[in-house]
Amino acid sequence: MPNMSMKKNPMPSQEPFVRARNFDEVATGYDEATAIDEALRCLNCKNMPCVAGCPVNVHIPEFIAKIKEVDFEGAYQIISQSSSLPAVCGRVCPQETQCESRCVRGIKGESVGIGRLERFVADWHNAHSTELPVTEPSNGHKVAVVGAGPSGLTCAGDLAKKGYQVTVFEALHAAGGVLVYGIPEFRLPKSIVQKEVDHLIAMGVEIKTNMVIGKTLTVDELFEKGYEAVFIGSGAGLPNFMGIPGESYKGVYSANEFLTRSNLMKAYRENPITPIMKGGKVAVVGGGNVAMDAARTALRLGAEKVYIVYRRSMEELPARREEVEHAIEEGIDFKLLTNPVEIFGYENPDDKRDPKNGFVTGIQCIQMELGEPDERGRRRPVPVEGSEFLLEVDTVIMSIGTSPNPLIKMTTDGLEVNRRGGIIVEEFTGATTREGVFAGGDAVTGAATVISAMGAGKIAAKAIDEYISAKK
Ligand code: FAD
Ligand code: SF4
Ligand code: SF4
Repeated sequence: MPNMSMKKNPMPSQEPFVRARNFDEVATGYDEATAIDEALRCLNCKNMPCVAGCPVNVHIPEFIAKIKEVDFEGAYQIISQSSSLPAVCGRVCPQETQCESRCVRGIKGESVGIGRLERFVADWHNAHSTELPVTEPSNGHKVAVVGAGPSGLTCAGDLAKKGYQVTVFEALHAAGGVLVYGIPEFRLPKSIVQKEVDHLIAMGVEIKTNMVIGKTLTVDELFEKGYEAVFIGSGAGLPNFMGIPGESYKGVYSANEFLTRSNLMKAYRENPITPIMKGGKVAVVGGGNVAMDAARTALRLGAEKVYIVYRRSMEELPARREEVEHAIEEGIDFKLLTNPVEIFGYENPDDKRDPKNGFVTGIQCIQMELGEPDERGRRRPVPVEGSEFLLEVDTVIMSIGTSPNPLIKMTTDGLEVNRRGGIIVEEFTGATTREGVFAGGDAVTGAATVISAMGAGKIAAKAIDEYISAKK
């Protein structure tokens, strides 16, 4: 009998006042009984609208049917035909705008909790499976992957499954890309990402860290070393700033730097190698998911007060609803229709190079109102004359977007980028304008999602295989 409840089974979570001061995962996941109960809400629709909403077309009704049969490993095997990181996607995919947005149960109530079920299945598999990864015999061909984020790791995994000898070159000292340096532990535990990386290594993928392509080695040098194709999955890690006065004061961070220091460099520990501003009052400028992560991280690092400063209203806030609700529950203060105009701080006259190099003391803001819609249909924020006010803070975190880093483009002949710095590729292959070089993920699209980066890695792996096979 289907479960005709209008509502999803709620996700068990830590209490807001407890979780706001620890880095443990906020959501604790369904147990078996709840997963089966939620699976029974699925109507196993013949035309499967939910599948079309998933960028990698996970066979959703089939895997949910296996949960109903209490065959959790069978459910995992079905998901893993399409997705190589289900434990990650079940946690961080924006399901409400992807698979779940197409679910027929969402017409008169809440959609089936597809992401929650995917997470349950992946966690069940990770807890119970003793199966070792299969290593394919080498086909004698070498491929280089630049960047160990979701696009690079997916491309590497798919090529290794076809017998390619794959080396991933990663600039940082750890593999995982944004999954380890950006998304905080309380949303995505690092151990889950590490498990996926270990799995790839066991499949024979070599991961070389501390290798900045464009500096340590160039793309041309990779070809000289015998790699027959190169996949660029270098992400979009270059932060944007507003260009307002005072951005060079101490205590002004980009969200990427703040999160990297906290996540990857473990700055939350006592006496960390990498320092970070802890405590005091913090303003995070921006309204996306990255801004929510930075604000909630600042709170967990001991801030007494954290503000989100966003120039439009709650309705236009681009972050996922779930993340906004979590942030509000934890006590983040939303200063909406507010835009910073200047950052104030102590002057440091001893610093000849830049006297505006003391510590932040506050952020001058102006109140905004919404005017006429812009070219994308969003109402344009307009400053309200004479409404300036000072927000006293000790730290400012800029979270107003990122762009692809130009380093690889600057050091690779024939590689063309668009005006936003994204590498230009053919849609169905990921082939760039330079022969033998493929690209995908945020390096192409600009900041997007984990699942779209994985999808791009898959497309490129298939195209690289066809490219090398055609040369044989
Ligand atoms: P990345 O994950 O950025 O990986 C690129 C890798 O390449 C990095 O490890 C980088 O160090 C390396 N690299 C860069 N340049 C070089 C070089 N020259 N040589 C060698 N290596 C290099 N998406 C979601 O779907 N859900 C979320 O909840 C979500 N939350 C996010 C939170 C934060 C804080 C951020 C920053 C992003 C979030 N995203 C989220 C977006 C998502 O993480 C990205 O779209 C995705 O990680 C892109 O994958 P990628 O492989 O293209 O690049
Ligand atoms: Fe939904 Fe993401 Fe899973 Fe696809 S991968 S089914 S979009 S949760
Ligand atoms: Fe199940 Fe919803 Fe997909 Fe229908 S649309 S098969 S109810 S998940």
